[in-house]
Amino acid sequence: MQQQLFDAAYSAFIQDTNLPRSIYEIEGADKCAIEVNSFSKSAGFTGVRLGWTVVPKTLVVDRAEPGKVNSLWNRRQTTFFNGASNIPQEGGLVVLTEQGQRECQAIIDYYLENARIIRTGLLDLGITSFGGENAPYIWMKTPYGMKSWDFFDKLLEETHVVGTPGVGFGPSGEGHFRLSAFGHRENIEAAVDSIRKNLRL
Ligand SMILES: *Cc1c(COP(=O)(O)O)cnc(C)c1O
Repeated sequence: MQQQLFDAAYSAFIQDTNLPRSIYEIEGADKCAIEVNSFSKSAGFTGVRLGWTVVPKTLVVDRAEPGKVNSLWNRRQTTFFNGASNIPQEGGLVVLTEQGQRECQAIIDYYLENARIIRTGLLDLGITSFGGENAPYIWMKTPYGMKSWDFFDKLLEETHVVGTPGVGFGPSGEGHFRLSAFGHRENIEAAVDSIRKNLRL
C-alpha cells in the first residue's frame, strides 16, 4: 500500500462540507496515512510553534507490525524532542476552548472575506485565478503567460504589491503567482485598489 503524509495545515479554511478536512475522512486512510497539522494558520500561531501529528496505531508499514510506527514516533517525541514548551501549550489549550474556537473561526472568516475581495478584484480585471474559497491564498495566472518572477517585478514596480512567484513552489508553479489573504482589511483593500488602478495590462 502507498503510504501518505498529509499536511492539513489549512484544514480550518475548508468551508465546503463536501471536501475532507482530514485524510481520515477517507476510508482506509488510518492504515496508510500520517497527518500533520498546526496551530499556525488556524489560530495565528505562526512562529509560536505548536502542532501535532497523528500516527494511527492501525498504520501498516512494510516489515513492521501494526502499532510499530506509533510506538517509534512516541519514543522519538519523548526523547529527541521532549515536546513543545509550556507557554505555547497553554495558548493551545485556550484555542481549544469554546470561546477560543469561536474567536479563531471569526478570524478565519475575516481572512476568507479578504480572499473574496482579492478574487473579485482579479476577476474584474479579467485575470484567471484559483483558490481563495477554501483556502487563504489566491493563485492567479500571470497575464500573457509571464514568468513568475517577471510578474513579481512588474507587480511590485507598478502597484507596490508583493506576492509570491509560483515557481518558488516548484516548476509547475511557473506562470502562476500567489496572493495571500493574511492581512488587515484596509491593506488588502488598498492592494486590490492599487492593482486595479496601476497594473498595466
Ligand atoms: C504554515 C504551514 C505549515 C505549518 O508550519 P508550522 O511549522 O507549524 O508553522 C505547514 N504546512 C504548510 C503548507 C504551511 O503553509
